[in-house]
Amino acid sequence: MSINETSYAYGASKSSIREIAAYGGARKAQIGAENVFDFSLGNPSIPAPEAVRASIERSLELPPTELHGYTAGAGSMAAREAVAASLNRRFGTEYAGGDVYMTCGAAASLSITFHAVVNEGDEIIVIAPYFPEYRVWIETSGAKRVEVMADAETFQVDVEAVAAAINERTKAVIINSPNNPVGSVYSEQNLRDLARALKAAEERLGTQIYLVADEPYREITYGADVPWVPAIYDRTIVCYSYSKSLSLPGERIGWILVPNTNPDHDRLVFAIAGAGRKLGFVCAPALFQRVVVDCIDEPSDVEAYARNREALTRGLSELGYEYIEPEGAFYLWVKALEPDANAFFERAKALELLPVPSDSFGCPGWVRVGYCVSYDTIVNSMPAWKKLAESYK
Ligand code: PLP
Repeated sequence: MSINETSYAYGASKSSIREIAAYGGARKAQIGAENVFDFSLGNPSIPAPEAVRASIERSLELPPTELHGYTAGAGSMAAREAVAASLNRRFGTEYAGGDVYMTCGAAASLSITFHAVVNEGDEIIVIAPYFPEYRVWIETSGAKRVEVMADAETFQVDVEAVAAAINERTKAVIINSPNNPVGSVYSEQNLRDLARALKAAEERLGTQIYLVADEPYREITYGADVPWVPAIYDRTIVCYSYSKSLSLPGERIGWILVPNTNPDHDRLVFAIAGAGRKLGFVCAPALFQRVVVDCIDEPSDVEAYARNREALTRGLSELGYEYIEPEGAFYLWVKALEPDANAFFERAKALELLPVPSDSFGCPGWVRVGYCVSYDTIVNSMPAWKKLAESYK
């Protein structure tokens, strides 16, 4: 049978995160949910705000054709204007609804953005460790992925290494702060240094380099300030989703912002719309576009994550594990107790502990522990973490 082999390979191989989560689900059915400590998936454990439910209930009163009808391809103007107005209140900007394209979550935001800017043979720089699906979205846009390791100590962007990786084919750099999988938040200084390096490269090479800011965790921080990237680098495109901030990952709702300060704004807005059309990523879910209008300024409830973070870091540090202190998102990046993260994971798995080994994030020797789980899961997992550490003594 003649089918697309690339698509076949993506479907047949699955993401390692999802494979571990599927194993966790099956294992829970076998031995009881309370006996499996599944830290694999970034599925928020905090319920969506009450205002989301109220908004849905209000929508249900609408005439069915309105309730279930198509919006414009780029989304309803009400949703796009609500997003722009909220950003303007928060960042002192002057965006308009026309700068915003509503999407089915950050996955669609990123796929569309890459398709909007990439021509065959272009390169996109990713900062490793990175969210594994970036591979798929970058490759399918026709670009080559160029990995640059984050600073080994701070996990901030290693600006010199990025500068060294740039060439005339570099079309974009993607950054994700607060970061999955490390939990780092890029400082204003780090971003200013990066912006300066990108500008210098543009001038030297006579090219344009986009900075794609993937920000689904923007509101999930533990005191850190998350700088507004378009204020630092003008050729920025922001990709966002409500999967984490409003705990709505299954509803598939997010957006792309082409800031009006981006020098390529007018053509980019059309390229984003065209890429959405090309991919069939048009008319994001109408019900949740209305939820966005109603809940745009709902605060994220990060208290439960903060409590989990405290319990997990305290517990693991008492057991002698090394990790990167997370400033945002809900992942802890823990050093494996042997160089091979997969071998370490197998030992953890035998104790019913399910973190994600770091290789699929483009970095050897660590595991990602997602703490968007119940507090009890964290507390009850400690004896298993203890056994795991002791097995290396
Ligand atoms: N980018 C990062 C860094 C993520 O962690 C995720 C999801 O976990 C996504 C993008 C995709 O988000 P969404 O579920 O909104 O498509």
